[in-house]
Amino acid sequence: MKGQRSKGKGLVIAIDGPSGVGKSTISQALAERLDCRYIDTGAMYRAVALLARARAVPPDDPLGLAGLGRNMEIEFIVTEEGSGVTLEGEDVTLSLRLPGVSEEASRLSRFPEVREVLVEKQRELGRQGKVVMEGRDIGTVVLPEADLKVFLDAEPEERARRRYLQWQEKGIEVEQEQLTREILSRDQRDKTRKVAPLVPAGDAALIDTTRLAPGQVLDRIFALLSERGLLEEK
Ligand code: C5P
Repeated sequence: MKGQRSKGKGLVIAIDGPSGVGKSTISQALAERLDCRYIDTGAMYRAVALLARARAVPPDDPLGLAGLGRNMEIEFIVTEEGSGVTLEGEDVTLSLRLPGVSEEASRLSRFPEVREVLVEKQRELGRQGKVVMEGRDIGTVVLPEADLKVFLDAEPEERARRRYLQWQEKGIEVEQEQLTREILSRDQRDKTRKVAPLVPAGDAALIDTTRLAPGQVLDRIFALLSERGLLEEK
């Protein structure tokens, strides 16, 4: 698979789906192989949640939260350990993933004021091209003109199991049952919110990753890119 390259300069790929379907693993690997930037839009909602904690902005203040999103300095970096995020110059890669932050990000992501600000930042990154962007509304709202849209899904138990293993790898003890509950409640909120709910774009390729290894998911995506003439030989 290595040696294949995106055509021209502007390849734009949207990867959407609920938590624990493998979006980050797949998007990062795709970006690396296609020599594209990897943009994790969930990290932007999480970053607003972290800033809100630090600056005591209440969770029910959409304008205050949107202001944090507008003014924050967030950078997507590549380190020896993989992709990371800095916020106001500080490495927040790990703190962004804490379970409480997931919940707060999901809650504040339902405010149109917050979404508007973050979607604009995401579109600007999309306009630069050569990007793999992952999230919940990338194919439907942020980058509806993407060259390829993929919607990943998986059974909830499998998604919770994957999240549990990720925490274990980091040496952090969490309860699997609590993770399942949190994933289900976030899914429900993300799917039923009024603005930009989590739904596949009409022209997205749907891939169920429950019984697939990351390499198999990548093979499918590369097959789609190839079918559409979006790859060229080195
Ligand atoms: O993808 P991740 O789990 O980091 O996203 C955290 C939360 O941010 C999601 O549960 C969702 O509510 C919100 N989100 C969103 N739109 C995106 C990305 C994330 O609403 N494009």
